[in-house]
Amino acid sequence: MENRIENIKKQLHSQSYKLTPQREATVRVLLEHEQDHLSAEDVYLLVKEKAPEIGLATVYRTLELLTELKVVDKINFGDGVSRYDLRKEGAEHFHHHLVCVECGSVTEIEEDLLGDVEKVVEKQFEFDVKDHRLTFHGVCKSCQN
Ligand SMILES: [Zn+2]
Ligand SMILES: [Zn+2]
Ligand SMILES: [Zn+2]
Repeated sequence: MENRIENIKKQLHSQSYKLTPQREATVRVLLEHEQDHLSAEDVYLLVKEKAPEIGLATVYRTLELLTELKVVDKINFGDGVSRYDLRKEGAEHFHHHLVCVECGSVTEIEEDLLGDVEKVVEKQFEFDVKDHRLTFHGVCKSCQN
């Protein structure tokens, strides 16, 4: 955890931003809930437990800044809610998600798996792929039983 925070701090510094205590509280919540795909509101309620003086606008601005710096990715699973998801350390592209239409559970796939697809796209469309979003909607293993 401290290691990840240290790296995120460096990422901010390299773009001339400081990891203020409020930003750090936000980053800690994201790290503690890495599997949870929290909305801005969720993050705010959790950060408030650590830093009661913090406002929703500050948390929102921090999330936008972290998105801009590619520390987090903003994702929408089709329910109209923006969720914030930490980028895996060293990952070039955003990870993929399996969303269960029965129970709403979200599973992550960390491997990129899209190398061949990206090559085809780059060649066929002369498109320089920078990133991608891939969400599978289906029925998870436990809901199949
Ligand atoms: Zn995720
Ligand atoms: Zn990729
Ligand atoms: Zn399910």
